[in-house]
Amino acid sequence: MALKQKIISQIYDDQTGEVLNTEIIEDKAIKSPKSIEELGYNHEEQINLLQKIQDAFLGSQITIFPYPQSCPKCETKLYKKGKAKSTFNSVFTDHEIHLTAFRCINPDCKHVIELSLQGVFGDYRHPDLVEIQTKLAAEHSFVKAQELLRLQNKRHRSVNGQVNLKRITEKVGTCLAEIHQDKTSLDTKDIKDQSRLIVQADGGHIKDKHPDRSTFEAILTTVYSPTNVEQKKSKSGCLKGEITQKSFAASSFKDHHRSIKNMLLVSAMKEGLTKNTEVTAFADGAKNCWSIIKSLKSYCKSLECILDWYHIRVRFDKIIKQMKSEYADKLESIKWKIWHGKSEEALERLTLMYGELITSDFADKLHQLLKYLANNKGYLVNYEARKIAGKPFTSSVIESAIETVVNARFKKKQKAQWNRESAHRVLQIRTSVASNQWAKDWEQAKTKLYKKVA
Ligand SMILES: [Zn+2]
Repeated sequence: MALKQKIISQIYDDQTGEVLNTEIIEDKAIKSPKSIEELGYNHEEQINLLQKIQDAFLGSQITIFPYPQSCPKCETKLYKKGKAKSTFNSVFTDHEIHLTAFRCINPDCKHVIELSLQGVFGDYRHPDLVEIQTKLAAEHSFVKAQELLRLQNKRHRSVNGQVNLKRITEKVGTCLAEIHQDKTSLDTKDIKDQSRLIVQADGGHIKDKHPDRSTFEAILTTVYSPTNVEQKKSKSGCLKGEITQKSFAASSFKDHHRSIKNMLLVSAMKEGLTKNTEVTAFADGAKNCWSIIKSLKSYCKSLECILDWYHIRVRFDKIIKQMKSEYADKLESIKWKIWHGKSEEALERLTLMYGELITSDFADKLHQLLKYLANNKGYLVNYEARKIAGKPFTSSVIESAIETVVNARFKKKQKAQWNRESAHRVLQIRTSVASNQWAKDWEQAKTKLYKKVA
């Protein structure tokens, strides 16, 4: 006995049962498998099945395509005039679709209509494909994303080429940039008002592809509610706060921070910002970060800006490590003055120390530290008192956020291939995914990227 499996596509009329088209998709011998490779259909065969099934389906679907009924110019009748070829890229397969072309019968008009998928639906790529492309290209380099898609498809498809991937991520990213700044896009009924929120802002640097410029800055903000911080035990056994829900916003646009300010506001509203919210904000001291954070002021009850203890400590410790013990001890004690909220005294002592070491190798480093603290004097608080009161005084979260949202995709080692605009767009996809917002964002993006037929 020899066994075979036959897969037949049958297009038929659901009401009369009349079969309009029959096509053999597959006629495969069922053999005893000599190895696991011979078990079932292999990758290539599976893709081929999809190709043939889709082709048979599409062949019928274009006969009932939403063709125009009359001339859009003069409303006269149309007659068929040949076919117009359109490409269609589905998740795993590519197709050529031949749509009917029309001409207006009115001799004074003679308007010709050659439909294309792009024209009818706004794009010739299935949204499911675009979603995969976008997410892969936002997570990996374009070369790597192309390779991953090649593996998934068992072959290279030009639609998945790196140039196309770059274009589609830019298109989706542009669309998301609009959504991320649009307050009206918020689904307010799902949002719980918060009495307190934490906001953080920091900058990362991305290599510029322009040969005359070295890097440009990308600003990243994080908003979360203290109620969404869970204390979890790390591998080493110590307790670590983990934020279970947060919203990121990021921009590298040079627009006087207009985009990032809008995006920060929308992301804060997503986390429950209202006129009754008390906001505590952390930054590492860059002037632009404070100005971005302060743009929230008129939208909340109160806004408290604090220079992040984490950054203060790191800056001190870096210098302390390199110093001889006598000065290391002094600097250590200045650091604890800051911790205890005695910033005036700390600055005085640091100025004296700078004077003493002005001819040493540490002059520059101390001067920078002094400048950093003096510039941010207004944002220094009694960190110890806050700790005792159980109030937040630091967050190292933004550090890892910059790492995962910005640095992981815009690697410093990589050849420079970004400008402010292209990075800005990819950042929109990355913040959307990192904020667990992708599913909602993508639903909205689709309504902007694609057209529906009336
Ligand atoms: Zn006409």
